[in-house]
Amino acid sequence: MSARRAAATVALAGLGAGACGLTAQEPPPIRAGVAPQPGIYAPGVDVLHYDVEVGLGLDTDWFEGRVDVRVRLLDDGVVLPLDFTGLEIAEVRVDGAPAPYEHEAGVLAIPLGAYARGSEPRVRVRYRGVPDDGMILRDNVHGERSAFVDNWPNRTRFWLPSVDHPADKATVRYAVHAPTAWKVVANGHLVTEGAPTPPDAIGPPGSRRTWIWEVGVPISPYNMVIGAADLEVTTVGLAACGRAPASRRADGCVEVTYWAYPQDVAKAAPSFRRAAEMVDHFTETIGPYPFEKLANVQSATRFGGMENASAIFYSEQAIAAGRDIEGTVSHEIAHQWFGDAVTEASWHHLWLSEGFATYFGAQFFEAADGLEAFRARMEQSRQRILAGNDADRPIYDPLETDLFALLNDNNYPKGGWVLHMLRGVLGDEAFFAGIREYYRRHLHSAVLTSHFQAVMEEAHGDDLEWFFHQWIYRPGYPVFEVDPTWAAAGSGMGGTLTLRIRQTQTEAWPAFRMPMDVLVVQDGREHRERVEVSGRETSVRLRLPGGSPPASVVLDPEGWVLKGG
Ligand SMILES: [Zn+2]
Repeated sequence: MSARRAAATVALAGLGAGACGLTAQEPPPIRAGVAPQPGIYAPGVDVLHYDVEVGLGLDTDWFEGRVDVRVRLLDDGVVLPLDFTGLEIAEVRVDGAPAPYEHEAGVLAIPLGAYARGSEPRVRVRYRGVPDDGMILRDNVHGERSAFVDNWPNRTRFWLPSVDHPADKATVRYAVHAPTAWKVVANGHLVTEGAPTPPDAIGPPGSRRTWIWEVGVPISPYNMVIGAADLEVTTVGLAACGRAPASRRADGCVEVTYWAYPQDVAKAAPSFRRAAEMVDHFTETIGPYPFEKLANVQSATRFGGMENASAIFYSEQAIAAGRDIEGTVSHEIAHQWFGDAVTEASWHHLWLSEGFATYFGAQFFEAADGLEAFRARMEQSRQRILAGNDADRPIYDPLETDLFALLNDNNYPKGGWVLHMLRGVLGDEAFFAGIREYYRRHLHSAVLTSHFQAVMEEAHGDDLEWFFHQWIYRPGYPVFEVDPTWAAAGSGMGGTLTLRIRQTQTEAWPAFRMPMDVLVVQDGREHRERVEVSGRETSVRLRLPGGSPPASVVLDPEGWVLKGG
């Protein structure tokens, strides 16, 4: 996600329902973005599939939903705890029979004690109401009605009964009944494009068409979206041909499109012109494209961009204003691999999503526009870290219980810098081999930092505990002061350059161990040596061939290390 251009939350609560016999039986919504308790989320259950049906209207604030949740029981005597809040439940059934349930404090608890461990009951929930969040039903930036889902981090529960945690991935089928004038987009591939809606279908009455989308690889609930509005679809191109195992196309490619309001199609074009090129770049660099297609959608998301698997949602205001959001596009597309296909198993390891998307999103420009373009982005990112206040906390910060507060300079730019520094330590060959292996091994699953560390240690052929400990689990960054002393050895014998490298960052931050290059210019010639600093003060001696004092000494000349000053 890109949080940089986050818009204010649109207050939807308090709109009266008042249509179609809706009663005031909607429970009050719980607060979004509260970190779950540590430990296993929803123990004893593994959701395999959500079969979702949504009925939307043209001028209504309410919608109607139905979901069939197929769940595998990992234990006997399980109570299924579906996250669900702020909407009225019409019916709960288990394998077709009416079932008892409790709905309190945002949890719909359905006893499944009659089912043994290993069984896979199908739980149906029918519901309706005025959503408080998650499903955004409102006029778009042009004053026209639209419906967009916006879930991050745990707002899926405001519109879809679900085990609303990133680690429980599932496949999804969506049937969406939407006003005739609208197009509907969702994750996965299109099964049915706007067929006449049966008159008895759920949702507000009116002239509607039914769209069916299906995602055949498991995705996290926060990635499960539909969008419905008057949208125009433009094809950017085909990508990842032969390297997209989820593709349903005969040619094995994925179609890359963008969906924009009719008023904004031309304004959107420059930002998306290289979207297919980006998919190809990340396929080359990281591994096969994980999903069926890639739609880039102008939408009501509160974020600058939201990486929903194969249906990325972008800020409607940014596109309508004609802003160039190509950097955001690259970031969100990188998320398809990291965040969406390989997902953080806990919100507190968010850097595995946001740091990776920040780094690879920038790295596209290294390949496409050259090293200087990439370095400029990394420098901008470094300046943001230095200017911000987040460095006093570590990247992994389990004490933070407000998930929205994790959208910070630690998980974004500093997480990106951690990857850059790791690349500097390992070298390109081992680094990218490790990245590809990490993706291959953990595709479609959920991981912690330790999983990534283990793969990178294999690629490096050495322990990296020192690296991950200081950069992920400790705060800060080093600030270096270098004092050079030159001692000539005698005529024609060269001399010795002694560098006293002090780390002058606050005592509250650790001293960092880092290998770095030193570039010395002496008598018009460049000398480069790799040194390793550790502790608050490191002295290194470099033998130089010339007899005169060096003209310049530069620590880390290519900028591989995040440092202050
Ligand atoms: Zn992101």
